[in-house]
Amino acid sequence: MRNVIIIGSGPAGLTAAIYAARANLEPLVIAGMEPGGQITLTDDLENYPGFPEGVKGFELYQTLEKQAQRFGAEILFDIVTKVDLTGEIKKVYTADKEFEAKVVIIATGSTPKKLDVPGEKEYIGKGVSYCATCDGFFYTGKNVAVIGGGNSALDEGLFLTRFAEKVTIIHRRDRLRADAILQERALKNAKVNFIWDTIVEQVLGDKIVTGLKLKNVKTGELSEFPLDGVFVFIGHYPNVDLFTDQVDFDKAGYIETDNRTRTNLDGVFACGDVQDNVYRQAITAAGTGCQSAMEAEKYIAEMEGHAYPGK
Ligand code: NAP
Repeated sequence: MRNVIIIGSGPAGLTAAIYAARANLEPLVIAGMEPGGQITLTDDLENYPGFPEGVKGFELYQTLEKQAQRFGAEILFDIVTKVDLTGEIKKVYTADKEFEAKVVIIATGSTPKKLDVPGEKEYIGKGVSYCATCDGFFYTGKNVAVIGGGNSALDEGLFLTRFAEKVTIIHRRDRLRADAILQERALKNAKVNFIWDTIVEQVLGDKIVTGLKLKNVKTGELSEFPLDGVFVFIGHYPNVDLFTDQVDFDKAGYIETDNRTRTNLDGVFACGDVQDNVYRQAITAAGTGCQSAMEAEKYIAEMEGHAYPGK
């Protein structure tokens, strides 16, 4: 029987692991499909406190992992296939293992949304991408589009200007959602162009992507836009499939927690993007990871009738 199992290994999960390990709870982290989570898809994090020059997403992941291991967290590179969280003893399954724990911390993060238009699925990896850090290099000297108007679209669009000849940001409205500093940088960058009030109707290609069929939402006008690659950054949905029918969700489909990261189930906490439809920052994920671990410590202490510091 484990004290704490943490599902997910992004900033939320690994921060929970650091705190739980330092509380001698010997947590097990099950890293999931993408160890490190979304920060590993980000080139530079410029706003994570403590790094005045920014930090590479992958480097931050490795640092957090090392820090958690230093205090005794165990990290298992496996995927959770099933959970049973409703009883006092929580059960977590991978394809070939079964674990039991007093507490489960859910830190499964979120996944990039798809456009859901014809051609998109067909051309994933052949010109359609959701990760500029991973695929930007392949577009050296090429003509690419970025879909979206939020921080991700602008951040990643600006990153792509290191490689691409031309980056066109296609946004469905005439105003960006992104932070002012990113807007300013993008508007000043000679390689960046904008197409406003426009959505993608179809990804066009012939074995690889050759263009986009676009629709102006104000005029209804259809057009074809030739290009070599399209990067989609239109937001995320929470990774909650494992927990359906067990925990409560908010209206947007995120796991519902109170301000102490508690779910509706005793001994089950959720932190990071899977429960945050508002901030979705690496630092807020880390913050809620810390909360979950401290709550886990308190819950176990109460369960076992021993003292909790500060109580
Ligand atoms: P987001 O803020 O939700 O923005 C998504 C963008 O995609 C919006 O501009 C939205 O348009 C557009 N969009 C949504 N669905 C669409 C569709 N079906 N077709 C076309 N466009 C669509 O998502 P995000 O940019 O991934 O950011 C997620 C979170 O991470 C945010 O909290 C953000 O601040 C944070 N983040 C921060 C940084 C940074 O601080 N440097 C970098 C990356 C991400 P509308 O504007 O019309 O809704």
